[in-house]
Amino acid sequence: MPEQLIVSISGMRGIVGENLTDSIAADYGRAFGTFLKSSKLKTQNSKLISVCIGRDSRSSGPMLASAVASGLCAVGIDVVDLGLVPTPTVGVMVTHLGCAGGVIITASHNPVQYNGIKLLLGNAMAPPADAAGQIKQLFVDKRFDSVDSTRCGKVASNEQADATHIEKVLAIVDREVIAAKGFRVVLDSVNGAGGGITKKLLAELGCRVSAINDEPTGRFAHTPEPIAENLTDLCAAVKSEGAEIGFAQDPDADRLAIVDEAGRYIGEEYTLAMAAKYVFSKQAGKAATNLSTSRMIDDMAEEAGCEVIRTPVGEANVAAAMLEHNCVIGGEGNGGIIDLRVGPIRDSLVGIALVLQLMAETGKSVSELVEEIGGYYMTKEKFPADSSQAQEILDRARRTFINARLDTSDGYRFDFDDGWVHIRSSNTEPVMRAIVEAKDRSIAQGYIDAVMKIRSEVLN
Ligand code: MG
Repeated sequence: MPEQLIVSISGMRGIVGENLTDSIAADYGRAFGTFLKSSKLKTQNSKLISVCIGRDSRSSGPMLASAVASGLCAVGIDVVDLGLVPTPTVGVMVTHLGCAGGVIITASHNPVQYNGIKLLLGNAMAPPADAAGQIKQLFVDKRFDSVDSTRCGKVASNEQADATHIEKVLAIVDREVIAAKGFRVVLDSVNGAGGGITKKLLAELGCRVSAINDEPTGRFAHTPEPIAENLTDLCAAVKSEGAEIGFAQDPDADRLAIVDEAGRYIGEEYTLAMAAKYVFSKQAGKAATNLSTSRMIDDMAEEAGCEVIRTPVGEANVAAAMLEHNCVIGGEGNGGIIDLRVGPIRDSLVGIALVLQLMAETGKSVSELVEEIGGYYMTKEKFPADSSQAQEILDRARRTFINARLDTSDGYRFDFDDGWVHIRSSNTEPVMRAIVEAKDRSIAQGYIDAVMKIRSEVLN
């Protein structure tokens, strides 16, 4: 069966030329523009509306960006073309330029044949569920606004995106303190959108940088997800260069993974823990993260007398909780760090700056910081389950883990003193994910075995 175009809360994703084409992208641009105009009219009349567009390095990016721009112009919206930029840079520019929305052409860590269209509202966040539903309906029904030739939108390019983003990131750290260390850094941008801007940021921070895969060709040098098995070249380069740290970004540079000074991949969960450790050392406050993220952030918060808010999985949920609770730091265990001083969006540049600041101020190496933060064993499983099977699995898990503290806001998360289990259905495919974490490997194994036993009972 051919894969379907996925239209979800955060936008659409598909295979270019199969189910994601120029005409689909133009229609999506028109739907988004129609939505923005109608919602804007309710609040303030007559103000000109503009939307900024950025793209990652995939070769289909310019074609899709032009198509979305033409759809927006056709409904009378001006477009600010940011060109090739990371996803968080678009978020920064939406706010900076006072745009009504933003569009990012990216399929994040998916293989190169995919691309996607992510939408942001004027607050630099993905549309909430009701707004996303309205945009999707306008797209499906092809109910588009149109304007006459005198009111068509225009496209103008803006070259200030990198500089604006870097300035905002530099404002949250002490550049002199970091620069005084002259850190030796290896950066792997997987030939995505992160290479150019991140090298500029690292230069501002006085780092001596060796970059690999830093050409934005869209020919990904390895499987793009920044996980251990894909980062063997980075690990080797950190060793051979004698670097103090290695950074890996995904193609749209919203996620960050770290390699220590011995060339060991430390795991994406540590990115948020390290960022939180630094931020909490400066400022007491709340953190927000999703239910599938490691307890390391709870440990960092406890040490600082701070609180962690847990949300359903999804960047927009974490960002919304951060705004609601005025959080000083937040993000996801997949290496996505959010600092509201820069923007309500996952940002690898923010992660890099905060981690370097932590190293500079403590004088500790990555491995020493990892040791200090401590670790957990995390195990993940994914299996097919339709909605009734999924509910049956959740019900049985609830009867099995009867002594746990239960959170039902996104599947079920069971918390024990010695670990936790999170079981939830995917938002985009008919599968369930089970994630467990414990201090002790055998305890983690015991929890995942219990979940897989329930799965077998229900699916057989
Ligand atoms: Mg990404």
